Amino acid sequence: ENLSNQIAAGEVIERPASVVKELAENAIDAQAQHIDILVEDAGIKSIRVIDDGNGIPETEALKAFERHATSKITSRHDLFRINSLGFRGEALPSIASVSDVVLKTATADQDAGKLVHIRGGEVQEETGTTARKGTDITVNDVFYNTPARLKYLKSQSTELSKIVDVVNRLALSHPDVSFHLVHQKKELLRTSGNGELQQVVAAVYGIQQARKMIAFSAEDDDFKINGLTSLPELTRANRSYISLIINGRYIKNYQLSNAVVKGYGSKLMVGRFPISVLEIEMDPLLIDVNVHPQKHEVRLSKETELVALIENTIYNRIAQENL
Ligand code: ADP
Ligand code: MG
Repeated sequence: ENLSNQIAAGEVIERPASVVKELAENAIDAQAQHIDILVEDAGIKSIRVIDDGNGIPETEALKAFERHATSKITSRHDLFRINSLGFRGEALPSIASVSDVVLKTATADQDAGKLVHIRGGEVQEETGTTARKGTDITVNDVFYNTPARLKYLKSQSTELSKIVDVVNRLALSHPDVSFHLVHQKKELLRTSGNGELQQVVAAVYGIQQARKMIAFSAEDDDFKINGLTSLPELTRANRSYISLIINGRYIKNYQLSNAVVKGYGSKLMVGRFPISVLEIEMDPLLIDVNVHPQKHEVRLSKETELVALIENTIYNRIAQENL
């Protein structure tokens, strides 16, 4: 049992940043308004995520660590209209199989919360506890029992930068949620959760940079897009500063990020890329997110139409600036 979870962990949990991603996504799925992420030693020593979301009912807390115990989809049909970030029910069992996890959780209509402690997939403790509504989960000693995985990790500064990247993207995807990321008592990100993308962009990229970004929006029968993209003077040497968000999920898609770049026509220097955040809303039936365990890659119906919409919208918006 723990072996199959460890095998799944090999796919889902590559590094500390994957733990941060899965835990924070669970908080978002639970409708949290505030998410605190506290990290020690680039997540290798510990990762703690505290949310004020719906919590897990007492009777479900232990079950959440069972393989494929998702509360988010109930039928095969749901797989084709996914609205939550999680749905595979693999993250918690995978994480618990390769680390030491303490979960404290409570729902609004419970007097007491539940505490579950699991180490290397073995339940150490399951007991009642005082807790306010929400979930507080701490993952210590990740990969302590999978030395090969531990050895494969990069330097702490690289692992930390991957965590920062994950949290930045989640914050950009959810301007209505307040994120607070702290490493070794140092604050690395704080967003207000006031719903304004501009405010998140300022927190992630800096206030000066945010001022050099322009807003765009458009829609057709199938897609609604809006976002912020930089003036051609504000560029970066790689396309990783282009964030694509479909229905609240951060994704990677070369065709779509290329459409952003192509929208600039000849206005960008060769080898330079804009900073952009592009939010796309569409019928979930038009996307397949169940392509990869990490759910980063998606398959899109009508991709060509979406590419044209993005490219034309950005082209027209840049043209308005009379540069
Ligand atoms: P998935 O997110 O794919 O459903 P996970 O393994 O990440 O699977 O989580 C298992 C289940 O535990 C979720 O479906 C959800 O019911 C519950 N859960 C996990 N984290 C939280 C949280 N922070 N708040 C509320 N429920 C949670
Ligand atoms: Mg999940």
